[in-house]
Amino acid sequence: MKTIQTYIKKENEINLKKSYMEAYQQEEFKKLVDSLDISESLLIQYTSLLEEAAKEKENCLHCKSLTSCKNKVPGYLYTPQQQKNRIAFSYEMCPKKKKQEELYAYQKNIEYFHIPKQIALASFKDFYKDSKARVPILKYFEFFMTSYLKEKKGKGLYLCGSFGSGKTYMIAALFNELAKKGVQSCMVYYPELLRLLKSSFKDSYEEKFDRVRKAPLLLLDDIGAENVTSWSRDEVLGPILQYRMEEELPTFFTSNFTMEELEKLLGQTTSAIEKVKAKRILERIKQVSEEYVLNSKNRREE
Ligand code: ADP
Ligand code: MG
Repeated sequence: MKTIQTYIKKENEINLKKSYMEAYQQEEFKKLVDSLDISESLLIQYTSLLEEAAKEKENCLHCKSLTSCKNKVPGYLYTPQQQKNRIAFSYEMCPKKKKQEELYAYQKNIEYFHIPKQIALASFKDFYKDSKARVPILKYFEFFMTSYLKEKKGKGLYLCGSFGSGKTYMIAALFNELAKKGVQSCMVYYPELLRLLKSSFKDSYEEKFDRVRKAPLLLLDDIGAENVTSWSRDEVLGPILQYRMEEELPTFFTSNFTMEELEKLLGQTTSAIEKVKAKRILERIKQVSEEYVLNSKNRREE
């Protein structure tokens, strides 16, 4: 019996050694194991994992960009490390990913509720400089940034205008710029927030609602695009604005409707016509923000 087991063990060792020697013919594998200060007898036991690590290293050598990363966990490199009498493998962040992480570290200061990734990366640097319509808005941003950084308060913008003119992008760029200076904010695609709240149970409802209501800077994106109900107007929008008005927290809006048009829209729910309630909401919006118009060609078609 013992001789059979010894024979099998021997046979396994021969096979392991054979596959190790085969792998060693590959350039990247050779380079990798040669760079490790680990005995061959130990290396042999990890041939297939080392092959995987060498393959990932080779992918990195031919890397063009993070978006086309071929590694198992994009942006990470499967890496061997010796630990006593074994080899441990871990996923190490690659330099490109590290650089990207540093570049977008400001995003930890922003909470997003259904904001497209492209918008989350908006920056003043990549701004279109084509339209004069943006100049007063940019001036307002400059003024806002200086005063907010000093006093932690200020009026937001109610930016209305045509679809795709860049309203969300501009405000996102402002929030990103401030986030780089440590200012925390929250960007909410308003119709989606309503859907989210509607499907949340009590505790998570209140927690989400509070995160939005109390955000130091808030963007309610695409207000007016929602299906207006008395609940959305009186239980969500009203209390958010009331709180922010009392606490003097800057609030920004984007909308396809002017303030005047929004008032009409909010006055007409599916169940009733309630002009007074809509008027009260608009009074709060006017308290916390300034109305600016941005009309231009639709940038989404580009
Ligand atoms: P809106 O909110 O007015 O409907 P968006 O802000 O979503 O429009 O902008 C539409 C598209 O144009 C987006 O894909 C955005 O990335 C791009 N865009 C808008 N404004 C700018 C800008 N100032 N600089 C660079 N890209 C922009
Ligand atoms: Mg928008």
